[in-house]
Amino acid sequence: MQSEAPTASSRETKVTASLLLATRIVEFALGNDLVLDPQVFAAFHAYLGDPDGEAAAEVAVLVEAGCLSEKGLHEIAVRIAPPDARRRTQTVQQGVADSLAAITEGMDAHAAALDEDERIVGRIEQSLAALPSAKPGPLAGALRAIVSLHRQRLAAQRAAICEFGASLRAEQVRILELRRELEALRTETTLDGLTGLLNRRGLDAHLSAQNGTAFTLLMIDIDHFKSINDRFGHPAGDGIIKSVGAMLRHCVRERDFVARMGGEEFAVILPATGEGAADIVAARIRASVAARRFVKRHTGEPIGSVTVSIGGACGDGAVGGDVLMERADQALYASKRGGRDRVTFFADNAWNMAS
Ligand code: GH3
Ligand code: MG
Ligand code: MG
Repeated sequence: MQSEAPTASSRETKVTASLLLATRIVEFALGNDLVLDPQVFAAFHAYLGDPDGEAAAEVAVLVEAGCLSEKGLHEIAVRIAPPDARRRTQTVQQGVADSLAAITEGMDAHAAALDEDERIVGRIEQSLAALPSAKPGPLAGALRAIVSLHRQRLAAQRAAICEFGASLRAEQVRILELRRELEALRTETTLDGLTGLLNRRGLDAHLSAQNGTAFTLLMIDIDHFKSINDRFGHPAGDGIIKSVGAMLRHCVRERDFVARMGGEEFAVILPATGEGAADIVAARIRASVAARRFVKRHTGEPIGSVTVSIGGACGDGAVGGDVLMERADQALYASKRGGRDRVTFFADNAWNMAS
């Protein structure tokens, strides 16, 4: 029997720790008015459960900037997912279910403790009632007051547990719905393992979907990236690719598509956007990247800044995505030739609507 005690107590410690963490995550999400779906849970799990981790630093940026949002947290959750995003998503979903089960288990244990407390209080009340009532002493009076107060507190705790249980059940239903939606989305989308952005296949699918519509395509390439790898190492290069990918996502609208074409090259589809508006977006991307000071994540060693060259091509619906890609590539090449860190649009864009 003795050899089992440490196992039971270490399991209890783990259950208590995961219960505390899960409760903090739930409170943090609800306190920030966020829907606690699996990806939000994953990002907060990293933030609160592993404060020194890579993902925690990314969440901390959003927390400190006061711009926590489901969208931002989803992007972080996708970035911290390993290449097999589907498997990771399932693990996270299981983690959410396990944590909710742990909270429920904790609530049940608390409710059982309340039952026991009530039984004890009942026995004390009976004993007090059995005292000779003709001349109740000051001690018996004080005891009755304490017992009555304790009963009130038990009732309040039970009401709080019921309320928390109801919101937990509602949360469980919502998470189930979100899980189904997420699965549906995963099967439709092809993502890049490093950045969580669309990959080349994902971009092609969205380019085909734009056929016959007016849109702008931007091609974006990090300048002199080989020398970043040479000076700071491939992992630092990967970190910059990830950060630039995240910055692109933040610079465009929800309805735009951002993809990593491979290496240090990205593409952005701006639906229903002519050269005037696309130029503003491209300028914003160029300036944001140039203004950022990168550091090595683990050591804090400064890397400095990097720049991007951008090429844009706009279509009026008459030219296909492959033609626009060639044109945007030509424009990107012109930006490189022109000295890099600049935006160039294909000279004869069919659609120059300035909106
Ligand atoms: P340019 O300004 O002309 O674009 O110069 P560049 O050095 O950026 O261009 P080049 O195409 O010569 O080099 C791209 C480098 O990107 C070479 C390759 O080692 C590196 N690279 C490609 N894929 C990855 C990746 O996934 N991670 C990292 N860290 N580096 C990559
Ligand atoms: Mg390059
Ligand atoms: Mg390149």
